Amino acid sequence: MSFQPPKGTDDIGAPESHLWRAVLREWERWADLYAYPLVMTPIFEATELFERGVGGDTEVVSKQMYTFTDKGGRSVTLRPEGTAGVVRSYLASGVKGAWKGAYSGPMFRYERPQAGRRRQFWQVGVEYLDVEGAVADAEVVELGYRFLAAVEIPGLEVVLNSLGDEVCRPGYVALLRDYLDANRPQLCEDSVSLIEVNPLRVLDCKICTPVLIDAPAMRDSLCGPCAAHYAEVKEALQLLGVPYHEDARLVRGLDYYTRTAFEYIATGLDAAQNAVGGGGRYDGLAEVLGGRRIPAVGFALGIDRIILSSRLEPAMEVDIFVVSETTPLDGLVAASVLRGQGLRVDFETEGRSVKAQFKAVSRLGAPAVVVVGGRNDVEARVGEERAMLPLSDVGVWVKERLR
Ligand code: AMP
Repeated sequence: MSFQPPKGTDDIGAPESHLWRAVLREWERWADLYAYPLVMTPIFEATELFERGVGGDTEVVSKQMYTFTDKGGRSVTLRPEGTAGVVRSYLASGVKGAWKGAYSGPMFRYERPQAGRRRQFWQVGVEYLDVEGAVADAEVVELGYRFLAAVEIPGLEVVLNSLGDEVCRPGYVALLRDYLDANRPQLCEDSVSLIEVNPLRVLDCKICTPVLIDAPAMRDSLCGPCAAHYAEVKEALQLLGVPYHEDARLVRGLDYYTRTAFEYIATGLDAAQNAVGGGGRYDGLAEVLGGRRIPAVGFALGIDRIILSSRLEPAMEVDIFVVSETTPLDGLVAASVLRGQGLRVDFETEGRSVKAQFKAVSRLGAPAVVVVGGRNDVEARVGEERAMLPLSDVGVWVKERLR
């Protein structure tokens, strides 16, 4: 009998995992540079958190959740996204004032699996809570952009829109509804069914594109404060040198999303799966979860899709391979000392011939070799250079030659 990973999930090991490790390290580096500390919340939460925080009539909640009853009779759900848990934890902590957090981990959605669409997938993201100003939005958009540029996403684009707020959006929704109503015969069935309940979501429909080109745009209906906020976000992105283009059809269909909405697109990926991530402002979410009003902005990026499109080609790198002419135990001790000197070291534990050990050197492409012949001096080699040294000096000798 042989077990396979569950449908829509993957085993990821070397060499593919070299890229995962490089991308996740790069993520930690950028989160650090922008001063977003790590935040970790449970992988499962009360089902109701997502019903409220993601929205009961969204596809994610209505069709894609991994929900089960635990032994205590509680309904719990494997998290389909990261924001609801982070906002819940902020509310529970009683912390007040501006707060930043960066997360990284697996998410779960029961979807029809295909490339770039998995049932267990990895997201990284940030949430910047209790901040109102457009400058926070710009910082968040910039962070995601810089990280994606660093992991070499080809054809990276930022798509930007404003969704207005509770003051100006209702008027716009009415305008949009009238327009859609007038064009009913040209809309697909799903879109027609959304005209009354949530016309904003029709803007997302890929089938109805021809009809939607002339639809009214939210940005033409923004109230004064929303228009000013949007203008400030754009000005900040220009100053930061973050290229973007506006798309009036970029929407998020829930009321608690306000003002800024954005997506990162990899034009190199298949159009259906080309969004590597997205985010925006969600000034109304904390209240939906039963807290006070907490204006906030954040994004989530899909690492699986980043892996599919990244041009990085990292390898597992070692600096030194230790060849033992005596016993594997001598190799182990030497490797331990050299690792303690900050070098990446590998060696063989099985006591194979010196010739076989040298084969491993070329297989790994280690630039330096240390030959251990006992517990006295060792022979260090980098390229054509060789030296007999005490083990304690090898680290410095090798580092000088590798740099
Ligand atoms: P969302 O949380 O739906 O806004 O998604 C944010 C990003 O997560 C998307 O742009 C994708 O890159 C990624 N993502 C969402 N769902 C999946 C999935 N089922 N499989 C792989 N990546 C996903």
